[in-house]
Amino acid sequence: MKFRAAVAGSDGIRLTMESALTARDRVGVQDFVLLENFTSEAAFIENLRKRFKENLIYTYIGSVLVSVNPYKDLEIYSRQHMERYRGVSFYEVSPHLYAIADNSYRSLRIERKDQCILISGESGAGKTEATKKILQYYAVTCPASDQVETVKDRLLQSNPVLEAFGNAKTLRNDNSSRFGKYMDVQFDYKGAPVGGHILNYLLEKSRVVHQNHGERNFHIFYQLLEGGEDDLLRRLGLEKNPQQYHYLVKGQCARVSSINDKNDWKVVRRALSVINFNDNEIEDLLSIVASVLHLGNVQFAANEQGNAQVTTENQIKYLARLLGVEGSVLREALIHKMIIAKGEELVSPLNLEQAAYARDALAKAVYGRTFSWLVNKINKSLAYKGAECPGWRSATVLGLLDIYGFEVFQHNSFEQFCINYCNEKLQQLFIELTLKSEQEEYESEGIADEECLRPGDATDMTFLEKLEETVKNHPHFLTHKLADQKTRKSLGREEFRLLHYAGEVTYIVTGFLDKNNDLLFRNLKETMCSSENPIINNCFERTELTDKKRPETVATQFKNSLSKLMEILMSKEPSYIRCIKPNDAKQAGRFDEVLIRHQVKYLGLMENLRVRRAGFAYRRKYEIFLQRYKSLCSETWPTWEGRPHDGVSVLVKHLGYKQEEYKMGRTKIFIRFPKTLFATEDALEIR
Ligand code: ADP
Ligand code: MG
Repeated sequence: MKFRAAVAGSDGIRLTMESALTARDRVGVQDFVLLENFTSEAAFIENLRKRFKENLIYTYIGSVLVSVNPYKDLEIYSRQHMERYRGVSFYEVSPHLYAIADNSYRSLRIERKDQCILISGESGAGKTEATKKILQYYAVTCPASDQVETVKDRLLQSNPVLEAFGNAKTLRNDNSSRFGKYMDVQFDYKGAPVGGHILNYLLEKSRVVHQNHGERNFHIFYQLLEGGEDDLLRRLGLEKNPQQYHYLVKGQCARVSSINDKNDWKVVRRALSVINFNDNEIEDLLSIVASVLHLGNVQFAANEQGNAQVTTENQIKYLARLLGVEGSVLREALIHKMIIAKGEELVSPLNLEQAAYARDALAKAVYGRTFSWLVNKINKSLAYKGAECPGWRSATVLGLLDIYGFEVFQHNSFEQFCINYCNEKLQQLFIELTLKSEQEEYESEGIADEECLRPGDATDMTFLEKLEETVKNHPHFLTHKLADQKTRKSLGREEFRLLHYAGEVTYIVTGFLDKNNDLLFRNLKETMCSSENPIINNCFERTELTDKKRPETVATQFKNSLSKLMEILMSKEPSYIRCIKPNDAKQAGRFDEVLIRHQVKYLGLMENLRVRRAGFAYRRKYEIFLQRYKSLCSETWPTWEGRPHDGVSVLVKHLGYKQEEYKMGRTKIFIRFPKTLFATEDALEIR
């Protein structure tokens, strides 16, 4: 009786029938829909806790997977485990992300409908790990041909590269994604993965030049210094010690116990080859990484007029070589500003502060654009070659969304504002698609809206004033000025507070405008346009210099790219993985109830359960109902030959359902009281 294992003998634990009930006590139920007290949040959390203690980190709410980060390696991702989930229905095996992966894949194959898997949860909850495991699942279980092997490899190997350049240690997560990623995997009509495409969202560039205490810059810098061969480092003019570089010492934690930079370097180097980088390209890429470190060490001193002068000629020398530019041109560009007025070029010297600003802006621009170039390059290597053949059939795609999770720090700036706005959008989408019937109860809170952050604001403070003016009546918006006496104390004059779906966040506006405008002085741009480093040359195009249009602000670009993302997601059939972070200490075995309750709340899991329960408990297709419970009646077991409708009739009579307890519809049985269904469920277990 295969399905019996689903209800009681879950999660690979062999059970005798007698012990089924005690097991349920111990390991909880594997679908929250089966919770007797399904409206109780306490019961919900108790069920999570029981399972977590038994290393059962996955639980369903219907077809939504809830996952709790175990913070330790579990033996549940082997090839054998993958095999167990292939082509098998949800309820036949214990909950797993492989079940979600397999189900989406099968829908894609059978219905030929594009799919997407949306993975959400706050920073450190396990989204990126889940994404990687799903990709591995497809790489192992999907059919392949020779050519497909390379595609699979490339799909997998794009990850370490993107993580090296786009992930960093934060206080929330030692491997925190500092960019958003949406990846399409394309499948041909045989179901083999044949290509892929990545969309990246807003990299947190400010990290290149500054890190908060206890945080790091992007992994690649440390990997290169730790792992780079002596020869290579010499060519790049680098020393092994991260303490030498201003851009790496701000957070005061170059070494992290959970990270092995030296090893990761090897992985990244290998991955670069797999995704088609030749030696020259790798050298060009690493030259840019090194140039960012050298830029950080460029120092200035003021001359008598108070104008900045470069005092570190050595750095300029290396930069000139690595970036393929004229040293003197770069030096002058770093300490002057050029504007065009009435068609004439005006050059004026910079003071110390402005020069440091220009230098950092250049470092951010160089790194940020190189990251986008990298994604492009990976996309070229993942591109579906079959699309060029005559008579090809369009591929079906399965999208994986792994985007930075909701985050709150002591100080929250523009980056958190964008990240949390993005999470707000995704939460809205989740609600629209899964909790439709509860929608009225839920007040959406997307106030981070187009009104904010228009160009033309003069300073951070005038921006704040304008924001105040525009959204002052919104119940989820607060500033020092708008707050009452009591709350006012907790808000600085340069702060504003938003009540997000996931909690309150206080943002400090200092630097908002700057980060939003993302300005790079014209002469620095020009210098980069003349670069002989092919990557830099590709990243800085001359047309930018002649373009008269005011460039879009970062917030506007982000907002537009997110609405495109929402369109993409809406056009596909979604599956959900809701990730929960069990504690803030990144520790195994710790189940912090307060923290978890908060996440259960804001992820809307209780509402999710109520809606699912309604769908599950009160109506079921005859075929499915019969399949699940036919073993409870000798007349329907092992197979019912007649119409499913009649089989169900026989079955429920045998089970003693009273007339007022159910109704037989055209294709479904409707059950009035959940307790009826639960009695039946229990019968499966104790019999
Ligand atoms: P997110 O992307 O949601 O911010 P990650 O996926 O990077 O979070 O997970 C943070 C860390 O938690 C990982 O680096 C890993 O150490 C641990 N982790 C997450 N998921 C798992 C898992 N399924 N098994 C073991 N460890 C995990
Ligand atoms: Mg992540």
